Amino acid sequence: MERRHLDISGLVQGVGFRPFLYNLAAHEGITGWVRNNFGGVELEIQGEKSKISSFLKNLPLQAPAAAVIDSVAVVDIPAVSESKFVILTSESGQISGSPLPDQGICETCMEEIRNQTDRRSRYFLNSCIVCGPRFTIMEDLPFDRSRTSMVKFPLCSKCQAEYSSPGDRRFHAQTMACPECGPSLWFADSEGEMVPGDPFFHAGKILNNGGIIGIKGIGGYHLACLASSEQAVARLRILKGRDNRAFAVMFRDMETLKAECEVSDDEAKVLTSAARPILLLKQIRTGRIAHSVNPDLKELGAFLPYTGIHLGLFTMDDNDSGISALVMTSGNRSGEPLTIDDSLAFQELTFMVDGFLGHNRPILWRCDDSVMRFGQGKLLGIRRSRGYAPAPVKVGRSLVPLLACGAQQKNVFALTKGEQVFLSPHQGDLDQLETFISYQETILRFQRLLQCKPEWAIHDLHPDYNSTMFARNSSLKTIGVQHHLAHVNTVIAACQIEGPVIGVAFDGSGYGTDGKIWGGEFFSGEGACWKRNAFFSYYPMPGGEGAVREPWRMAASYLQPTGSERFLNRLAEKKLADQWTALRKAIQLGINTPYTSSVGRLFDGVAALIGGPLQVGYEGEAAVWLENIADNTAAGIYRYHIDHGEDGFRVDPGDIVTQVLEDMDFCEKSVISMKFHRTMAALIGEMVEKIYAQTGYKQVVLSGGVFQNRLLLDLAVEILHNEGFEVFLPEQIPLNDGGIALGQAWLGNLMIERGITDVFSSSR
Ligand code: ZN
Ligand code: ZN
Ligand code: FE
Repeated sequence: MERRHLDISGLVQGVGFRPFLYNLAAHEGITGWVRNNFGGVELEIQGEKSKISSFLKNLPLQAPAAAVIDSVAVVDIPAVSESKFVILTSESGQISGSPLPDQGICETCMEEIRNQTDRRSRYFLNSCIVCGPRFTIMEDLPFDRSRTSMVKFPLCSKCQAEYSSPGDRRFHAQTMACPECGPSLWFADSEGEMVPGDPFFHAGKILNNGGIIGIKGIGGYHLACLASSEQAVARLRILKGRDNRAFAVMFRDMETLKAECEVSDDEAKVLTSAARPILLLKQIRTGRIAHSVNPDLKELGAFLPYTGIHLGLFTMDDNDSGISALVMTSGNRSGEPLTIDDSLAFQELTFMVDGFLGHNRPILWRCDDSVMRFGQGKLLGIRRSRGYAPAPVKVGRSLVPLLACGAQQKNVFALTKGEQVFLSPHQGDLDQLETFISYQETILRFQRLLQCKPEWAIHDLHPDYNSTMFARNSSLKTIGVQHHLAHVNTVIAACQIEGPVIGVAFDGSGYGTDGKIWGGEFFSGEGACWKRNAFFSYYPMPGGEGAVREPWRMAASYLQPTGSERFLNRLAEKKLADQWTALRKAIQLGINTPYTSSVGRLFDGVAALIGGPLQVGYEGEAAVWLENIADNTAAGIYRYHIDHGEDGFRVDPGDIVTQVLEDMDFCEKSVISMKFHRTMAALIGEMVEKIYAQTGYKQVVLSGGVFQNRLLLDLAVEILHNEGFEVFLPEQIPLNDGGIALGQAWLGNLMIERGITDVFSSSR
């Protein structure tokens, strides 16, 4: 008889790990116990040597699909006298470092809902050991029902029997319930008055009549309408105060989705994974989806139902809804935090909806849908939130306990614990007061949940970012990290890159160490020692932030030195000539005119010049337009000059824009766009070669929001590969500001360890 003590760490709580071990032990004839603890799961097993080795062999092979085992530490201990294997209650006071993200509803639970003879028939809040909400209903850890918002719903005797029966698939399932004991659905009119009857009947009727409903799901409220109805989608856009940004569409099932979008095997796997993110897919455009969902775009953000509530909307026969696709957008006024509270929803969303479909299970954490896409064979993150957050990112070395505050837009903050970096769910744009308030509150709650006690706050260098002000007003020691170095270090941390890199940061805007607005930078270095080797020559951003909202100002700015009658005529046509005269004066006088090296602005300017939007509703809109119109088959490239100055290599973007202007007499805009993309990729290749000649570094990191541009990314990676460089891209972690907190944490930690505040001046 032998006995072992096992410590298993990783994502092993809330995935049915203890019941799995129980059944494995029963199968092998092993005695002992198991419980959740600080790092994951702890157990003692006892039996004959051969049985123990069989148990240890099968443990990783048969573990639940949602579990991620990081390590198993096995220690020999003396055998004791015992006769069975038991599941002990969690060690209180100590918590697991890894709360599990929410898990989309599983096939078996959907079957039960559809099965008219099952006791959970039509129980749309159905869940089991492997599926259902997790993070968004957590009050505290370890993950037990008593510490979730399911505490309101004590198990009935039938459920209790399943919970205690080792052979049952709900054995120790913390979120399980049934129609008798569990939370229930309701329908309310637009004022929040409860309406009796089948909630799906009411919801289906409104939707089929072109109406909008508020739907309470897992991480908050959605606003939904028929994706096929131009009128409904247009109305939703107006009511929500939404710019031209594309809406995402939830399809009834994979078959319906595949009729509208091209789906590879890898993409199908992600669409049906427990995380069920929105995935950007190539759209076939059958005409079944309203054009105004994603005007003129080639890609559609598509996803599948991830809770029984969605299932009910699509599949209920008795209301004969026949709904196959719904626009699902977050339930909030544009820019404000997602609504999770019922009474707030009734107040804030009332003017946007014709009714509410909801349930009485409280949502404790706001969690927007995640948005991802495939690129370069990887699942690239655009927004990492529901289904992924707050699973920690492992960085391969222990970090100082710190809070990384994130940036201003698309904010995500991070907390560290040992080797783990916990990225928060998507917080939104901190310009909005409501979002900034929610951000501060969430940081405190997140610290409590994870039992993190940060000693440092790492912030952006931008003095006006609310995240910077939050750090400086906190009681923590602070360190500032340059925006684009943080972007580069996000990739280094996520990919656990060893050794020095050449880091390319093409971005919208970020505060530079010289007070200029950076965004087209090439760095080299490693650890806490960095050099800025190259950048795009500075051009005025007429009217500061106004130039982000009005890309034509950037076009005019790049053309200003040489002048452009043709473009000025176009401005006159659009009644912008006077404004440009005033802005020009402001540039000359240096009033409200920051200077920028941003490549994001360059894409904006080129787009505006050749017929793209002169004004945009969101940053990146013009660049999306430019990528979308590009004719992939077109050849050609623009000239560019790389000058070598005292402060490094330099490219003049005005030079490229001038050629674009000349080209307008000869080429279609689709051809110009392609030539411009090729130019930017070639320029990356040549610049990296030049920096390689100086440094000998062969590893390249591409980072910053501009690389969300699929065309540019593919072209640049191809060139770099041909030149023999190794290119790194992270999985799931956004290249935009939604991923910047990881790089802040990583580089901030290195700066703290070395006791430096300036990574550009330190010697190697
Ligand atoms: Zn299930
Ligand atoms: Zn029950
Ligand atoms: Fe950025």
